Amino acid sequence: MKMVLFKIFFILSIMKKNVVVFVKSSIVPGSILLLIAALFIVTPGGNATFLSTKSELELDTGLPRSAQTDLLITSDTEEILASEPLDSFGFSSQKTEYEEGTIRRNESFYLILRRHGLSALEIQRLTDSSRGVVNLKRLLPGQKYRIYYENEKPISFVWMQSPLQFVRFDWDTELSVERGSLPVTPVESEYAGIISSSLYESMSDRNGTPQLVNELADLFAWQVNFFGLQKGDHFKVVYEELFANGEFIGIGDIQFAEFQHKGEVFRAYLYEHPDRTGYFDEHGNSLQKELLKAPFKYSQRISSGFSHSRFHPVLKTRRPHYGTDYAAPKGTPVLAVGDGVVTEAQYRGANGNIVQIRHNSTYRTAYLHLNGFAKGIYKGAKVTQGTVIGYVGNTGLSTGPHLCYRLYKNDQPVNSRNIDLPASDSLEEVFHEDFSRVVERGNLRLQYLPLQQELASNLP
Ligand SMILES: [Zn+2]
Repeated sequence: MKMVLFKIFFILSIMKKNVVVFVKSSIVPGSILLLIAALFIVTPGGNATFLSTKSELELDTGLPRSAQTDLLITSDTEEILASEPLDSFGFSSQKTEYEEGTIRRNESFYLILRRHGLSALEIQRLTDSSRGVVNLKRLLPGQKYRIYYENEKPISFVWMQSPLQFVRFDWDTELSVERGSLPVTPVESEYAGIISSSLYESMSDRNGTPQLVNELADLFAWQVNFFGLQKGDHFKVVYEELFANGEFIGIGDIQFAEFQHKGEVFRAYLYEHPDRTGYFDEHGNSLQKELLKAPFKYSQRISSGFSHSRFHPVLKTRRPHYGTDYAAPKGTPVLAVGDGVVTEAQYRGANGNIVQIRHNSTYRTAYLHLNGFAKGIYKGAKVTQGTVIGYVGNTGLSTGPHLCYRLYKNDQPVNSRNIDLPASDSLEEVFHEDFSRVVERGNLRLQYLPLQQELASNLP
C-alpha cells in the first residue's frame, strides 16, 4: 500500500490506434457492470478487450488491518472497560450528532461558522488559534465539512481538505485546532482479462481509471512487450482497493499478477518484509532490470543537471532542461543504459546527432550532441546494456563537447539522477522460505481467478 499509492501516468499519450477495454463486474448476482477503459497499444489490426471480475469478499491478505478497539486495558490490574465507539474523526457517535455540508463558492470559514450560530468573537479566537496550524484561505468550494453538535449545541467544525486529510476545530471546553488523517483500509480485489477483438467498438466510449493497467504494465515492463500485445494474451491481477471513511480513494499495491503473452506465462508476487520489499517471480528473481545510472563506463563531470528552469547558455533565456549534461571529452564512448531497440539515430537540428532507445513500454532514453554513431547503430537495431552507441561531441545547439542524456518514464522526462528505479536484486536466501508461502497463496488466488470470457456476450 505504501509503495505505490497514486501513481498516475498516461499510457494514453503513447496510444495511437487501439484501446484496451476493461470490464469490471461483480460476481455477486444482480450487481451492475462497471466498465473501465484502459489503454495499451496492441498489434496493428487487433483490438484488445480485458474482461474482469471483482469479488466483494474480503480475503485474508495477511496484512494488518485497521481495527476499532472497543476494549481498553487501563491498569496493571488489567481491569477492562468498554470505551465509547468513536467515528473516524474522533467523536462519540452516542453523544454527538453531525451535519455535513459542501463549501460553496465565496463561502469562508467565518461565513460557515456564523451561519451555525457562532459569534464573531468566537470565530476570531478560532481563527487566531489556527495560525501556524492551517491556512484558512485554503477552504475551497467543493470541499466537505461537518459541524458536530452535542445536546443540539455546535461544538466542533471538521474541514475535509482531501479524501484523507482533515482539520478539526473544537471550541466546547477549550479552543483547539488539530490536523488529522483518516485511516485507510485496503480491501483485496481482483481483475482478469483476455485480449480479444470483439468488444472494443462498443466500449471505447466508456471511461475509467487507467491506474491499474499502468501499474500492471510497469510490473511486467521487462517481460511483456505492451506495444505488441496479441489476441489471446491474458492477465490476472489481485490488488488492493483503498477506502477511507467508506469511500473508495484509489488503488493500492498489486499483490499478485499473471500475464500470458505469446503463450508464455509470467507471474509476479509482492513480498513485504520489514527488511525487504519488492516484486519477484516464483523463484525469487526480481522482475526488474536495472538501467545504468549514467551512460558511461567511468564517471564524468556533470555540467548541468535536470531542471524545470535553467538559463540557456546559447539562447540566453530561461527554459526547462529535461536532461543531464556530462562534460566528457570529445570522443568518449557513450553506452546504452539498458537493453532495448534504437528508435532514432540521425542528425536532428538543435539536438545534433541523436540516438534514442526504447527499453520497454515504460522507459526510453535519448543521447544528444554526439560526434558520431557507433558501428551497427541505426533505427531498429537491438542493443544490450553497455553497448557503445556513439561518441561525445559538440553537434547541434551546443557550446562545447558534452553529452545531454535524457531519461523518459511513460514519455515524461524524469531526472535520471534521483529517480527511484526499481531494484533488480534477487531475493536473498534468508527470505526464501517465507516467500514460498507468498508464492503458494498467490498461485492459489491466480489459479482460481476466472477469465470469464463468456461475459463478452452479455455486455451492452
Ligand atoms: Zn542537456
